Amino acid sequence: MRVRLQWKWMLLASVLFILFLLIQAYFFYTLKTSWTLSSLLAFCFVMPFLFLLVRSLFKPIVTMTRKARELVSGRLEPGTTFHADDELEDLSKTIAEISTQLRKKMDEVAREKDYHQAILGGMAEGLLLVDGRGRILLVNEALQRLLAISSKVTDKTTLEIIRNVELVEAIQGALHEATDKAFEISLPSTRGRTFEVNVVGIPSSSDEMDQREPKRKGVIAVFHDITRLKDLERIRQDFVANVSHELRTPLTTIKGYVETLLEGAWKEEISFQFLQVIKRHSDRLAKIVEDLLTLSKIESPGFQLKIEEIALRELIADAIDFVKEGAEKKRISIITRDASSSLAVQGDRTYLEQVLINLLENGIKYTPEGGKIEIVTSQKNEQDIQCSIQDTGIGIPEEDLSRIFERFYRVEKGRSQEQGGTGLGLSIVKHIVQAHGGKAWAESQLGKGSTFYFTLPKYSDSMKKESIKDP
Ligand code: ADP
Repeated sequence: MRVRLQWKWMLLASVLFILFLLIQAYFFYTLKTSWTLSSLLAFCFVMPFLFLLVRSLFKPIVTMTRKARELVSGRLEPGTTFHADDELEDLSKTIAEISTQLRKKMDEVAREKDYHQAILGGMAEGLLLVDGRGRILLVNEALQRLLAISSKVTDKTTLEIIRNVELVEAIQGALHEATDKAFEISLPSTRGRTFEVNVVGIPSSSDEMDQREPKRKGVIAVFHDITRLKDLERIRQDFVANVSHELRTPLTTIKGYVETLLEGAWKEEISFQFLQVIKRHSDRLAKIVEDLLTLSKIESPGFQLKIEEIALRELIADAIDFVKEGAEKKRISIITRDASSSLAVQGDRTYLEQVLINLLENGIKYTPEGGKIEIVTSQKNEQDIQCSIQDTGIGIPEEDLSRIFERFYRVEKGRSQEQGGTGLGLSIVKHIVQAHGGKAWAESQLGKGSTFYFTLPKYSDSMKKESIKDP
């Protein structure tokens, strides 16, 4: 049965009071003690019962206070009730309900936080969140990585973390003038990486808007790393400029000589020399176009190598045969040395022959008369074969060594052109070797000679078996 709390209190208090009166009367009338002493003795007898009464009444309140504290600290199991058959039971049920609702909300918030963290963590773009005072609220992992900053930046100003005035001004503009902005920045702290930054304000809710300054309650800045795009754009522009420049020189020469011939010079003896110059320059033009076509073919998406087993010894002999005449003219000897005569690689014969021819032709071009070229092949490791072509030529300065595989890069432009070079030979070598899964590099000592190395995948017996099964 449910008893109202005040009745309970009154009933028990009345029982105690009657008990008190009875004891007091007993002492006063039966034992003849004074009125004061009787009251005092009666009080002493009733005291423990009073204590027990108060305790039993306060116990549910104490329990509820404890539960409320557990609720605040999140330790209360949702739906926990504690019994009392009075109004306190209602309170206990309300607390239990609150705890269940609170736990649901907390679970929802935790789930949403997990989603947000997963989204922010998975973003390739860097994200910066700033509050209405211009202080940092959040920096996602991508931005920490891109700008090499720590995660402990909360509550700092943007300028303290990212030293870029344009970014700070854009954030201030988005906060105070509600102007969103997109722009490019290059940060020295990121070793010149370029970012496209989109700064967007977070609008304040309508009631906030009336009283609040600034107009936005925060700003989101998204950083896209466009360094690669910029590099590609620069490479494309450089390439177009280089090709135009390379083609213009022989074309201007040809045009000049043809015009002179047309003006009547063809009648003179000198016309033969003119035609020879025209022939030399048109050969050069043809070579540039041919090299460009080879490069574009290797780089095209559908490019396929015709992979087969190639005995290195044969390949080298064919390439030497091709350049023999030029070497003999300069009395340059070409010798080969292999660690194992049976070394075989897997590759495309036509393209690999071109690699060797380009390197041998360079060796001949840049080695003075009477020099020597040595070709060494060896097994680099289980999977790769290494080939080196060493000459006793003019060598390459240290600072140019890392750039000679770039298109149109030449150490001495004049000398290369004199020798009929296009500046594309080594670029073709690098691309062909890379298409085979190998690597090409060079070492050199100025005035003493250069060595060009490349690796290729070794032909293995398992491949042989596979190709037999293949058809
Ligand atoms: P090129 O047609 O000018 O020879 P390459 O791409 O083959 O173009 O070579 C790029 C540059 O590297 C050359 O212009 C030359 O300066 C340098 N180079 C290449 N091979 C050698 C070598 N064996 N000895 C010295 N310099 C070399």
